[in-house]
Amino acid sequence: EALGPTITVGEILVEIMATTVGTGFIEPQSLAGPYPSGAPAIFIDQVARMGGAAGIIAGVGDDDFGRLNVDRLRHDGVDVSAIAIHEDWPTGSAFVRYRPNGARDFVFNIARSAAGQVGLTSAAEALVRRAGHVHVMGTALTIPGARKVILFAVETVQARGGSVSLDPNLRKELLTDDGALDSFNQVLATADLLLPSGDELFTAAGRADEAAAVAKLLESGIGEIVLKRGEHGASFFGRGLPRIDCPAFTVDEVDPTGAGDCFGAAYLTCRRKGMAPDAALLHANAAGARNVTRLGPMEGVSTLAELTTFIAETPRR
Ligand code: ATP
Ligand code: MG
Repeated sequence: EALGPTITVGEILVEIMATTVGTGFIEPQSLAGPYPSGAPAIFIDQVARMGGAAGIIAGVGDDDFGRLNVDRLRHDGVDVSAIAIHEDWPTGSAFVRYRPNGARDFVFNIARSAAGQVGLTSAAEALVRRAGHVHVMGTALTIPGARKVILFAVETVQARGGSVSLDPNLRKELLTDDGALDSFNQVLATADLLLPSGDELFTAAGRADEAAAVAKLLESGIGEIVLKRGEHGASFFGRGLPRIDCPAFTVDEVDPTGAGDCFGAAYLTCRRKGMAPDAALLHANAAGARNVTRLGPMEGVSTLAELTTFIAETPRR
């Protein structure tokens, strides 16, 4: 952590969610929100809430959706100096409704919102030049401007001895051009820590078997892989280290969105503070589990003290 803050790049959004389960938005219905959101924003807010130095390169509109997000991030301790305020673009948004089987329907406004305008401003460059770690969100690689900033940040921070983590999180709905995949492979080739969930491990490795995929990625130079398994917990794989499995905490899931982002942020922040992988994994599991108990993707972020209490009081599966 001494080298500089953890930074991330990408979309800040408001999330507006249907209050009922069903299919999409083709009829009038009641909605809840706006809630602060965007995978990179949720991640960086969780880093800051745990006491990690944190900053984000992003864009919002000059509107209430933007103010809601920037106020929350600033309040929680995130360096917001590299969030550009765009006069001509509205803050990005995601409308989400859960289906009975747990799948989600989204209506996104990202590419044609302020979130789609992320670029290398002088404030962004200054933040990159003092950063110690870059966390790359796959979602942000689908925004061409953000992609350039990310590749610049990865190169600059690694050149000064910093590290890089990658959450694949590449939603098919957002994969609109080849640039996203190319840049994904570039980041994957130099990442120190990979945080996949579900099939993302297989896609990243080009292998359909978990052990083979992990082995291939560790051989290719990734130091640590932490696999997120939703309600089944998570596993750690490190080069030359024994595998660690961590069962999930038993909680009532109210809203799963954001669990992976909080999990990744907690894991990384613990590791950057010098915690061993097993303790970091336990805290990350706790951060993911706490997040799903709250409505709204960023409403369940945790302080270190809250995680400590949660770990002591909550049974595990
Ligand atoms: P998203 O992309 O929707 O934010 P993800 O797919 O990246 O999520 P998940 O595996 O869903 O990530 O969740 C991350 C972690 O949060 C899990 O590994 C687990 O530790 C915790 N978690 C998620 N859902 C639950 C749950 N229902 N009960 C307990 N813990 C959970
Ligand atoms: Mg995810």
